[in-house]
Amino acid sequence: MPAPDLDTIVSLAKRRGFIFPSAEIYGGFANTYDYGPLGVELKRNIRETWWRSMVRDRDDVVGLDAALLTNPKVWVASGHVANFTDPLVDCKSCQQRFRLDHLLEGAYPEVEKHAEGYRCPRGRCEFTEPRQFNMMFQTQVGPVADESSIAYLPPETAQGIFINFENVVASMRRKLPFGIAQTRVSFRNEITPGKFVFRTLEFEQMEMEYFAMPPKDRENPSEYMDLYRYWVNERFQWYVDRVGIDPSRLRLREHAKEELSHYSAGTTDVEYLFPWGWGELEGIASRTDFDLKAHGELSGHPLTYFDEETNQHVVPWVVEPAAGLSRTLAVTLLEAYNEEPDEKGDKRIVLKFRPNIAPIKVAVLPLSKNEALRPTARRVFDLLRPVFMTQYDETQSIGRRYRRQDEIGTPLCVTVDFQTVGENGAAGDDAVTIRERDSQQQTRVPISGLLEAVGERLPGC
Ligand code: ATP
Repeated sequence: MPAPDLDTIVSLAKRRGFIFPSAEIYGGFANTYDYGPLGVELKRNIRETWWRSMVRDRDDVVGLDAALLTNPKVWVASGHVANFTDPLVDCKSCQQRFRLDHLLEGAYPEVEKHAEGYRCPRGRCEFTEPRQFNMMFQTQVGPVADESSIAYLPPETAQGIFINFENVVASMRRKLPFGIAQTRVSFRNEITPGKFVFRTLEFEQMEMEYFAMPPKDRENPSEYMDLYRYWVNERFQWYVDRVGIDPSRLRLREHAKEELSHYSAGTTDVEYLFPWGWGELEGIASRTDFDLKAHGELSGHPLTYFDEETNQHVVPWVVEPAAGLSRTLAVTLLEAYNEEPDEKGDKRIVLKFRPNIAPIKVAVLPLSKNEALRPTARRVFDLLRPVFMTQYDETQSIGRRYRRQDEIGTPLCVTVDFQTVGENGAAGDDAVTIRERDSQQQTRVPISGLLEAVGERLPGC
């Protein structure tokens, strides 16, 4: 099925407890969102899938969780204080503010481009000269608010990794090449936030810095470029194999020279075909030795690696895959959404999440609220709950409960009925029905073999 429009997803996300607009009772706030009970599970599952592929399943990557607030010199050395800017222009007639690069790309539907210039809803757009606007949020540490107490909210996770390079090498006895991975929240004062959780002020990132020996020839770093290409391919494939994105809606896009960030010698984006066009999910950047060198120089504490082969201290080169967790989450909702006709010709809405991503893995549903079913249904729930994220639901008709589980993407429902517990003095078979979300196929399974049967149907959970 083609991807649904964004409004469908935004409305389902709110109705079913995935994502709520933040502070709605106060009229909202700058495109910020709160993750509801199912959203928080979905986010944890995507983060966990990333952490598993990037850290636990590899011998050459370790994790880190660095402080959010840190010495502001970190952001001077990294170049963010000077260079983490967007070019802004203001429309003189409607006073609206635009990012010049986005304006030139035609990203604002309310502004039309004509041969004689731009036109906004208020008339002819006349723009101010572009100004560079720094996207880092500032805060003050301590009781006195002056220049010396300024601290920054991190706009990316990478710098916490660079400043800990030496700590990790020494404490974990690491040899090059190896990576350090981190997932956490980042903040950017986006001038035009929007499009649901695609662009927000506060968002989660999943980043890894992979350190390698510097190339022998800086001008022709062929081994380093092989590593860069390796990570580009790995990361593309992760979205297909582990998140379940249709590869026909993914592409790789290499940045043109003038588009590169201040630290990058080359960047390739993994892009997704959103309902409004192609947009970035992840950037894989060749950061060379820019960051380690810059921190070494500003701090006066060189961040180097001792190469035992040559008996020399070297500054490693870095490849960085930097992914957006919040954006990936939006894509999992878009990709999972399906509408199908049901047996009565009505619409069945199903979120076809991969089992590892699905917020709830199994729903235990007694056929009705009848007291006779409850003890066995609770026993089944207690059996599954320690192993799989399981939900118990006995309200409303069984058909409606199946629909609800389909709409939140639960791969399996387990139904306890009168055949399970026995009726009119006859003994029950102590078996339950497993109903599969996508095929709606139903299979009778003894409770004694239920854990195994569920496990077989939920690979990677
Ligand atoms: P964009 O060009 O869309 O602003 P970027 O190139 O600045 O993104 P990076 O600095 O490479 O983004 O950050 C890595 C990832 O973090 C992005 O690919 C994206 O998934 C995510 N990301 C960046 N900014 C935001 C934001 N404001 N809201 C949500 N996710 C974001």
